[in-house]
Amino acid sequence: MIAIHPAFARLGEENAFAVLAKAAELQRQGRDIINLGIGQPDFKTPPHIVEAAVKALRDGEHGYTDATGIRPLREAVSADLRRRLGAEVSPELVLITPGGKVSMYMAILMFGAEGTEIVYPDPGFPIYRSMIDFTGATAVPNPMREENGFAFSAEETLSLITPRTRLLIVNSPANPTGGVTPPEEIDKLVAGLAAWPDVAILSDEIYGQLTYDGLAHRSLLDYPEIRDRLILLDGWSKTYAMTGWRLGYSVWPKAWREVARKLAVNSYSCVNSASQFAGIAALDGPQDSVAAMRAEFDRRRKAVVEGLNRLPGVTAVTPKGAFYAFPNVSGTGWKAKPLASALLEEAGVATIGGPDFGVFGEGYLRLSYAASLEAIERALARMADFLGRPASAKAG
Ligand code: PLP
Repeated sequence: MIAIHPAFARLGEENAFAVLAKAAELQRQGRDIINLGIGQPDFKTPPHIVEAAVKALRDGEHGYTDATGIRPLREAVSADLRRRLGAEVSPELVLITPGGKVSMYMAILMFGAEGTEIVYPDPGFPIYRSMIDFTGATAVPNPMREENGFAFSAEETLSLITPRTRLLIVNSPANPTGGVTPPEEIDKLVAGLAAWPDVAILSDEIYGQLTYDGLAHRSLLDYPEIRDRLILLDGWSKTYAMTGWRLGYSVWPKAWREVARKLAVNSYSCVNSASQFAGIAALDGPQDSVAAMRAEFDRRRKAVVEGLNRLPGVTAVTPKGAFYAFPNVSGTGWKAKPLASALLEEAGVATIGGPDFGVFGEGYLRLSYAASLEAIERALARMADFLGRPASAKAG
């Protein structure tokens, strides 16, 4: 065997895709599977967005574009950030990427190296940890605690920073927990970061438009004092039900955006042009579909939390954002991953075991409520039936 670079042995992945494949395989075998595993909206992309892409293709927009994205799309991003968050961001600082994920890949590559440390949320999106390990940097988990509503604590986060820390990753609203960090805590974190001027910050705000109970999203763009070291990650996947279009963006300090542009040129060249035209229509067009999707997620959120709290041995805090519930299943007598497997194999309900999001995820399951209310109700009934069976029938 010809040896590949040893760093690849450290590369992880996202188990949600493995669960999706397993669920699809069981479905092919004729099993009725309810999929609460994958983190993508079950809605279709709004028609005016689809039409904009079709029109772009018909108009002959078939070529390479600027590696940073077409100017009108970067301008639309600036206008959207101004409208939504009151933030002034020059289109020159915006990078259009093939999905939000690419921005974390770039940021972690830029700051991760042996001898450095990167602080990241745990439980958190698994690619953070995977990419940190890939670079050889030391991954420093920042525990997201149930008693804190799965928000991050400014004090605990700051206590994890050392002179070797080069990057701090934060994510609110959060995957996999649905936790939203309150603005006062973000104020405290930013104030504390003044003591650590050599730490770059990656703020993953891809669920920024999915908050509930009237909570406003607090963006790290709101803090001018960290703008020279802030990378903001966002995109269209979750807000506009556009996961398959592969369209995201990030906002960078000028010098780092130039490095990111070079990485783009060295890898994907540019995002496909039809998706970019769709992105303009999404931002500039009517936003009522975003509000409608949020309202529907909210209904499901309430149903899922209520149902989970009725299950034997299960307790669930009410998530304040994103479209995930993260119930504590430690009272069931099962470890989380065997429970997720048994629920899939025996009850036909796909969920993800908390440990797939980090060591602090043990004792929890992630359920995505990006599925119809009817599917959610059926899944909860199956889980109730499964967990209500006599202990002797369980193989935990
Ligand atoms: N960040 C978080 C926290 C996510 O949950 C996801 C997708 O699940 C992404 C980023 C990546 O989104 P995209 O599909 O746009 O690459």
